[in-house]
This record gives sequence, C-alpha cells and structure tokens, in this order.
Amino acid sequence: MTTPVPPRQTPDQPWRSEGAPPPPPPRRKMPGGLAGLVLTALAVFLISDALLSFFGNGGSTTVSYTEFNSQLGKGNITKIYSKGDAIEGSLKAAAPKPDGGKGTYKDFTTQRPTFVNDNLWTTLQQQNVEVTAEPVVQQRSFLANLLISLAPMLLLIFVWVLIARRMSGGLGGSPLGRKAPPKPVVPEEGKRTTFADVAGIDEVEAELTEVVDFLKRPQVYRKLGAKMPRGVLLAGPPGTGKTLLARAVAGEADVPFFSASASEFIEMIVGVGASRVRELFAEARKVAPAIIFIDEIDTIGRQRGGGGGMGGHDEREQTLNQILTEMDGFSGSEGVIVIAATNRAEILDPALLRPGRFDRRITVSPPDRDGRQAILQIHTRTVPLGKDADLGQLAKVTPGMTGADLANLVNEAALLAVKREQDAVGQEDLSDALEKVQLGAVRPLVMPQSERERTAYHESGHALLGMLQPGADPVRKITIVPRGRALGVTLSTPDTDRYSYTEPYLRGRIIGALGGMAAEQVVYGVITTGAESDLEQVTNIARSMAGRWGMSERVGRLTAVPNDTQGAYGLSAAPTTLDAVDEETRRIVAECYEDAVRLLTEHRDRLDALTAALLEAETLDEEAAYRAAGISRQALSATT
Ligand code: ADP
Ligand code: ZN
Repeated sequence: MTTPVPPRQTPDQPWRSEGAPPPPPPRRKMPGGLAGLVLTALAVFLISDALLSFFGNGGSTTVSYTEFNSQLGKGNITKIYSKGDAIEGSLKAAAPKPDGGKGTYKDFTTQRPTFVNDNLWTTLQQQNVEVTAEPVVQQRSFLANLLISLAPMLLLIFVWVLIARRMSGGLGGSPLGRKAPPKPVVPEEGKRTTFADVAGIDEVEAELTEVVDFLKRPQVYRKLGAKMPRGVLLAGPPGTGKTLLARAVAGEADVPFFSASASEFIEMIVGVGASRVRELFAEARKVAPAIIFIDEIDTIGRQRGGGGGMGGHDEREQTLNQILTEMDGFSGSEGVIVIAATNRAEILDPALLRPGRFDRRITVSPPDRDGRQAILQIHTRTVPLGKDADLGQLAKVTPGMTGADLANLVNEAALLAVKREQDAVGQEDLSDALEKVQLGAVRPLVMPQSERERTAYHESGHALLGMLQPGADPVRKITIVPRGRALGVTLSTPDTDRYSYTEPYLRGRIIGALGGMAAEQVVYGVITTGAESDLEQVTNIARSMAGRWGMSERVGRLTAVPNDTQGAYGLSAAPTTLDAVDEETRRIVAECYEDAVRLLTEHRDRLDALTAALLEAETLDEEAAYRAAGISRQALSATT
C-alpha cells in the first residue's frame, strides 16, 4: 500500500517531502540527456563533413601520371595547381575515367614521380595551361581548417562537461560554486496528517507521542541530557498504516517530513544510492528537526550473506551502510529522526537494530473490531452516510481487514452510490462493496447449465461442511456468479477476531476447503480442475500443522518448515524430518478428505437442497444458506 504523498519534486530526487521549504529551482540541464548527446554528436559530424566537402577537393579524381601525360599530350588541360610534386587540375573536356571506371571526370589530382624528366613546364607553356603554384591543401580557409581539426576536441570537452554536471548533481555540490538561492519558508497549504487521521492502533500511537514531544521541544530533552531514539522501526503487514503514522508524527510535531522508499535508492545507477542517501540526510538536517521516513527498508536491509544477496559490496549494501553511517553520524540532539517501515522485520540485518540505530521497534497489527469501526469513521468523515448505514455492523464482519482495506471498502461503496445516483451511501452500498472486495468483481460469463450445476454442488459442498463443523467460521455468503478468477465463491468469516487456532478448528478448515472436491466426487464420481486453489490452501494448512505447529506426534514438537518469509534459508531440518512432515501432511489431508466425503454422503439430502436453492437464487446470504440446508445457526453456535 502506498500513501498518496506529494509527488517527487525533481526526478533526480528519490524522496518526497512535505512541510519542508520548497527546493531550489532545478539545476539548468543540458537539453535532453542522452538523446541530446547523440544529436549533438551527429550534428558535429554532419557539419564537419559539410565543411570538408565545401572547402575540400570533393569532386576530383585521382589519376595516374601516365593518364595526366596523355591528356596533356591531347591538349585537354586548362589549368593546374601544384605543390611540390602533387598536381591538381581541370580538363577542358571531360574524359572517360581511366582504369576502366564508370563515367567521366574533369577535375583530377595526380602525383608527379620525382624521377620523371619530361620538360613538363615547357609542354604546359606550349599548350597555354594556366599554372598556379598554390598549396593544394591550404585552399581551405584557415578558419575551416581550425574548425575541422578542433571538432573532435570540442565534442570531447562538451561530453566531459555534461558528465561532470551529472556527477555534481548526484553528489549534491556544485563545483562551479553556483549557490542555491536562500529558501523562503512558505506557510503550509492544505492540512497535514495528524494522529486524528489514524485509528485502531492506539498503543502504537502512544509509543510515538514521545517522539513527537521530542521534536516539538528538543531543548528540554537536551537540557536534561536525554538522548532520543535515532531510528524507529515500524513492523507490520502492508496497509496497516505505517506510512500514515510516520506522516502523522511529523504532522503532529509540525516538522518537515521526508519520505523515500528504499527500493527507489537502489533502482538507480550503481554507486548513486549512497550519495542519494547522503543528500537526503543533508537536506533533512538543514531543516531539522525533521522526520525521514524510509519505506520497505527490508529491500536493502536484509541480512548480509544470507541467501538473497550476492555478498560483497553490492549496491544494496553500500546504500544501507550509508544510512547507518548517517544515523551514527548525527547526534540525537540534531533532531532528525528516521522512521523505517517493513513488513518483514525478521529478515532484517541485526546491524540495523543495534542501539543508536533503529533501536525502537514497534509492531503495527491489523485493527480489532473497535479499531475497524474507528477507522471506518475516519474514512467516512467526508462521505455522506445514509440513515441505515451501520459502521459497527460493518466492522463486525470485516475481521482481518487492514486500514487500507477499509479505506478502499468505503471508497468502493461511495463509487457504487454514485453509480446508483444516490445522494448518500447506504448500508446496501457498503455490503455490496464488501462483497466485491471480498469475492472479487462479477465477471460476465455465460456458463452452460451443466457447468453451473457442477459449480453449485462444489460451492454447496464447501458451505455445507462449513456449517456442519462445530466451531468453524460461519458461512456468510455463497455464490455461483463468476467472480474474479473463480466460478463460484463461498465466504466464511469468524464472528470475532481470532488470534490463535485449535487443531479441531484447523481440521475443520481443511475439511471445508476439501468440501468442493468431495461434493464433486460424491455427486459425479469425478473431480475437475476447479479445485486447484482449494488444494493449495489445504496443503498450506496441513503442512503448517505438521511442520510448524507441532500438531503431529511423529514429527514432534518442533518447527521443521520455514515460514514463507524466511525462504529456503530460514531453517534447516534433517531430510528424514522433512520426509516425516510430508507424510504427516498427506495423512492429515487424507483423513480430512475421508471425513468430508463421509459427511457429504450422510447429508446428501441437505447437499441437494442447498444446491437447488443456489441454482435458483445464484447468491445466498448467511440466513438463506442455513435455511436452505436445514441447519439452525443458533443451535449450532450453542454447541460450540
Ligand atoms: P502501510 O504503510 O502500512 O503499508 P499505509 O500507511 O500506506 O500502510 O496505509 C494506506 C492507507 O490506508 C492510508 O493512507 C490510510 O488511508 C489507510 N489506513 C491504514 N491504516 C489506517 C489506520 N490505522 N487508520 C486510518 N487509516 C488507515
Ligand atoms: Zn472450491
């Protein structure tokens, strides 16, 4: 999730800032970068070529001295220029080119061998040839010669200047001493982000108020010799509001906010990342106290030597080192605080987390129910809500959604309301938007009847098993309207937020996920390819149960399988252990599949009834689904 921060001020600067004085006008640049360079080179080439042919001896043919002599004998020569033994001249009438070449020639050059003893001067005089002893080469004007010989040099100097300018741009200083004009501090237009724009993560907010206080009155801290953290690391899943929080800290303290994504530092030319970092910190220090926000710090801050990198001094490492150096370099009292964000805190280089660097780690989690309601309230501040809109209810049915998801949900609802020509956003818009967000957009796709029926059985299988499992997440919606990539969708969400899972619950999830396949098996005796993503989900759960959560006697109470963020290098287990994990995964899935088939065979009447209702209505909500299956939701939840 990226927040709409102000655009970058110049393409040379990989960061954005707000609340900072406006940057100096961008450096005057040579027109057009590389393209300009090529064009210039071309132009220089063309011009020197033109000069050459204009002043030079463009059209003359080189002939042998014998040929010259024979033309002279025929009296066919009007005039010659000579310098030393070189002769250049013109014929009276064009003669066919010697040595069998095509066409004729009139102007010629030739070389008179030194040993020739032919009384040339006498012959020329006899024939009235005009003889000039001007130097052949110097026919070109002095200026032209100068230009031609200097052109490559000039081009070189030009290129050199161009490169020098670019470099100085990267290093932040101008070698020519051109000083940026003093920057006026303009008052802020537009409101800045504050803690009032953040909800649902109060404990995180509380931890950051100290930072805000320090930024507001650093002298108080300085007087008592208190050192402030130099870096704060916000760790949490995408969309939980890390960027938002960092901006809010800056906004609350009313200090400039600089933000950059770590990946933007390294996407550039090798060796430039570090100098950009230096520049960014210099910029921030000028207007301190200030906040520097670095997003996706894990892209440059992952553990060294571990799997991903190539080791050695690559671009990432240089950039990271520069950040660390800068952080070591400023004493905390300078008032530049670095806030970094990552959603993979566990892969970070420990060097980053040492005291004096990102020594404050704050975990940002997805909001709970009250938090979701508060976030929905924030994002509906500018949205006119209908009387029936119930944000509390919406918060209840959106467990697991992050702040960004909720913001998106509100926006989708508003778009729907516009489409429906309403003047307020009602509950129906909200729940339709939720459906779209959770299930994917409806896909216009005409399905043959047999295919629809198969899909209906498949989804009913998922749903019915979900309903039959004690303690499983209730089924909220079933649909056979194709959405996203799926032909049908069954949605189950928990009543309350879940923070840990029991083994029976996980088995219930597997059984439910296998329900689609099992229903096809029970009804048609064959299964289709539609179950691929079901199987992926099943495999993930079962493998984690056996290999990560100690739910298999045989594997034992240990973590043998790395989680996906650790990658293949995270953990290592003996091959026999991994084999055992595989076998246990298979055993769990096989047992669950057996259960699924058995349950659906036992409850075949319910399966048929639910399928019929689904074929009729295409989409069933929670109440209709339980009614069609003949299962009482109340009775069931009483048993759990
Ligand atoms: P992250 O940086 O963690 O990926 P962002 O800060 O970019 O997440 O969040 C994206 C958007 O989601 C924010 O601009 C904001 O509109 C919304 N959002 C996320 N978390 C919250 C929250 N706790 N309170 C209010 N809005 C939030
Ligand atoms: Zn399925």
